[in-house]
Amino acid sequence: MHRTVFRNVRIWDGVASEYAMADVLAVEDGRVAGVGDADDGPARDRRDLAGLTVIPGLIDAHVHMTLDPSLRTPAAQLAVPDEKLVRDMDHRAEAMVRAGITTARDLGGGKWLELGLRDRIAAGQPGPRLLCAGQPVTSIGGHCHFWGGEACDAATAETVIERQAEHGVDLIKIMATGGNLTKGSSPRSAQYDAETTRQIVEHARRRGFDVAAHCHGTEGIAHSARARVATIEHCSWLGDDGTRSGYDPEVAAAIAANGVWVSPTINAGWARFAKNRKFEQAVQGTFARMREAGVRLIASTDAGIPNVRHEDLARALPVFAHFAGLTPVEVLRSATSDCAGAIGLGTVTGRIAPGFAADLLFVEGDPLTDLSVLESPAFVLARGQEIQGTGFSP
Ligand SMILES: [Zn+2]
Repeated sequence: MHRTVFRNVRIWDGVASEYAMADVLAVEDGRVAGVGDADDGPARDRRDLAGLTVIPGLIDAHVHMTLDPSLRTPAAQLAVPDEKLVRDMDHRAEAMVRAGITTARDLGGGKWLELGLRDRIAAGQPGPRLLCAGQPVTSIGGHCHFWGGEACDAATAETVIERQAEHGVDLIKIMATGGNLTKGSSPRSAQYDAETTRQIVEHARRRGFDVAAHCHGTEGIAHSARARVATIEHCSWLGDDGTRSGYDPEVAAAIAANGVWVSPTINAGWARFAKNRKFEQAVQGTFARMREAGVRLIASTDAGIPNVRHEDLARALPVFAHFAGLTPVEVLRSATSDCAGAIGLGTVTGRIAPGFAADLLFVEGDPLTDLSVLESPAFVLARGQEIQGTGFSP
């Protein structure tokens, strides 16, 4: 049994609107053992943090560990030899955890290499706890068909899901609409009809899997919301004209009523869109209406797609807050306790409370008023394992 008591630390527990009254935190065997407990135990196990702030480790609900953000096309990604890919993935995972990301959900790859990474990390290699979807279920020639999950109907989709189960995935991803990365697929069009979507999601759920649905167009969003997927990815509300004109209040009401979370994949690069007033207003308008309708949001970046680096969640959060109209504490919940709940880890991580994993991000400054302080962590604990952060360390 190893116990460390952090003293003189300001604590945000992942849920509350304010910092905790306590300034003592005990970690034991990879878990939070106590908050505000008496400072007991031998002096060598006590650490004075001189006023650093601790929050739960960050969670990115949508990443692709196998994708190299410096490559532009699927063909270039598929040409990377497995041996190099595995090395690159190890480096990405380490960069993520050093940047304070202690959990991430991988929403698709072709060869299950990210599941191997997940297992190496669980065995002690530095990196975030991973949940992995394996090959996404997609239509013939549909979005990311090159990853091998093509299915023309619900029965074929069941065999794709069974194959993912055999490889040990944690959840199922379905491409409910086309996407931008895949030539010949249309982001605004649904890839399956409502009934097929319902059957695919139902089958996944019977097998014990949550479903994450990739959705740009409104029709695919509607099918996924009514099929009660766990999370809707992107949720771009693309209308028939291919712009973000397709907001539908009935669909938003279904998202909220069915307890579906929206994971809008707003990455740091979206800052450039703030110069485009029309786009900015369209996005901010749909977020305002979604929030009014009671739709709940989680943080995600789609890391791995061109120019979106795996370790950049902290840089994305202020941009997400800007477009979604969230306060700092709301956006912090979306990347900690809310995100954990949405991806099925609500009793495991995302909060600083006894029994939760010691997934902790220590920073200088006041993240409840200034999200930018998250960009240079002093140090990080991932399941109790200490990792040097990218910023100053005491
Ligand atoms: Zn993605």
